[in-house]
Amino acid sequence: MRFAVLGSGSKGNALVVQGGGTTVLVDAGYAPRELKRRLHALDLELTDVRALLVTHGHSDHVKGARALAGALGVPSYATEATRRFCARSGALHNHASIAPGARLDVAGLSVLPLATAHDAPGSVCFVIDDGDERLGVCTDLGEPDATIVEALAGCQAVLVELNHDAEMLRSGPYPIHLKRRIASARGHLSNEQGAALLAQARRPTWSRVLLGHLSEVNNTPALALAAARAVLDGADVEVACAPQHHPTGWLRVRRQRPSGAGLAVRLAAADEVIPAAPAAVEVVPAPRHRALEAQLALFATATSRTRSPR
Ligand SMILES: [Zn+2]
Ligand SMILES: [Zn+2]
Repeated sequence: MRFAVLGSGSKGNALVVQGGGTTVLVDAGYAPRELKRRLHALDLELTDVRALLVTHGHSDHVKGARALAGALGVPSYATEATRRFCARSGALHNHASIAPGARLDVAGLSVLPLATAHDAPGSVCFVIDDGDERLGVCTDLGEPDATIVEALAGCQAVLVELNHDAEMLRSGPYPIHLKRRIASARGHLSNEQGAALLAQARRPTWSRVLLGHLSEVNNTPALALAAARAVLDGADVEVACAPQHHPTGWLRVRRQRPSGAGLAVRLAAADEVIPAAPAAVEVVPAPRHRALEAQLALFATATSRTRSPR
């Protein structure tokens, strides 16, 4: 099994997995044109995608979901609560209902959705298994529970949220209600919380850890890596931050340890974020104030939706 992060963070989330002879997307938080560009960097077409797994209905995860499923006839696997939530901004097409804890077969991949504590109804994270290897994708949660820890422990590769540095969030530019929301038990994991999750779930069988959904305002890759390194030190595991503005190259999920690698955490060099795929798209980062506005708009929309569930 192999996977690539197309992007991770509040400006968009998508991850592509190949295994069991199929190609599946986890979230489609980019407009179809951008999804297409990022898939091209991996030599994939939109038409190669056989299914879409939706974690929850926030727009940074479902922006392109409707068009993808509608135009291509791709099934969208999401909880019933997520489907209802998404119906406000455009229903998920070809919806296939999933439930936390109920394993399902998706085009040859075994997928286990697990409930997450997040401020979107019916939100889940996923463990994906091709029969040989297992990948855990776990972002957008305020606090992990024992079920999530156990599920991630059984993986060989994990993408775990280290959203913000608690002090940067506290002293940063966000309004107080947004700070509270992010730091709440239904918000996002801080570096400290994400690292604690890694510490509990880590196993010698892990070969790869990606740190995801990093805030560009309230975190830095260096801080997230330092938090993760502190708890993974001594483990033979590759650790890096998942990028927001370009896709990674293909990343293998390996069951066995690489030979002769030694017992040391191997950190991504230089910019601390996984470099782009060879043919990666060029994306000009937005100025910080625009990034902030985008996040505020996203959270405002989510708040109004959350407060008046249909
Ligand atoms: Zn998100
Ligand atoms: Zn979210």
